[in-house]
This record gives sequence, C-alpha cells and structure tokens, in this order.
Amino acid sequence: MTLNEAIEHAEQVACDLDAADGKTPAAFREQEQGQSCAECAAEHRQLAEWLRELSVRRMVAGTEHDELIRRANQHYGMSYTCQVAMEECGELIAAISHFLRMRPGALENLAEELADVRLMSERIIAQFGLGLEVRRWHAQKLMRMERRIRGEE
Ligand SMILES: [Mg+2]
Repeated sequence: MTLNEAIEHAEQVACDLDAADGKTPAAFREQEQGQSCAECAAEHRQLAEWLRELSVRRMVAGTEHDELIRRANQHYGMSYTCQVAMEECGELIAAISHFLRMRPGALENLAEELADVRLMSERIIAQFGLGLEVRRWHAQKLMRMERRIRGEE
C-alpha cells in the first residue's frame, strides 16, 4: 500500500463510518465496545491528516522535492520562471504592506506569499545551479547580522 492509498483508505473509512451510523455489524460492534462511529470516523480523519502531513514532509525534505523543482523548471523554462519570481516578489511586498495595515486575513496571505517567494527562490537556485553560492552568502549574511546585533558593525 502506498502513502496516497493509505490516505484515501483512511478518508474512505471515515466516510463509511459517518454513513453507517450504527447500522452495520462493524459499527454495532464498535458501539458495544464503547466507541461510537463518529469517534472512529474522527480518528480516521485525524489519521488521514497525519498521513498527508507526512506526505508533505517527505516532499519537502527529500529528493522528490528536488525532482519536482527540476521538472517545473524544465516545463516552464528560465524566462517564465524569472518573470513569475518577480511577480511573486511584488505580491510579497503587497502582503507585507497589508499586514502592517492590519487588513483582515493579512497574516495568512503573508504566509502564502512567503511560500511563493521561497518556492520561486528554490527554482531560480536550481535553474542556475546556485545552491552552494547561496548557502555561502546566507552564512555570511547570518554572521554579519550577528555582528550588527552585538553592535560590532
Ligand atoms: Mg503569490
């Protein structure tokens, strides 16, 4: 069984339990054991949610992530990737402005736009093979930030 199949199975069981509502032998047994169909359905939904989270974590941490980035760059091409990256940077600027002006839903929008810019940064880094250089610059910027916080710069 694959992870996606497990997610689908858990969701299907949750739906079946909701529909059964004590009408099937299995549901009757569960009720006799002191657990209602609704509780069991909720547990299966929770299981499906955890499995989805695992799926996302695997995607972000593993080679699937790098492969997906590579395929996206191949599909869209360098010029379009750079255009979208510029648009996403603009959307992040607007999101920060809306957050500072305390617009409703601004924090959620800020999170979405940060994710967009992060994703487009990852795509540009992959497109131009800049992983090592960006990590080196990042480390230098972190050290400079620390010096400034300490008042040494
Ligand atoms: Mg966006």
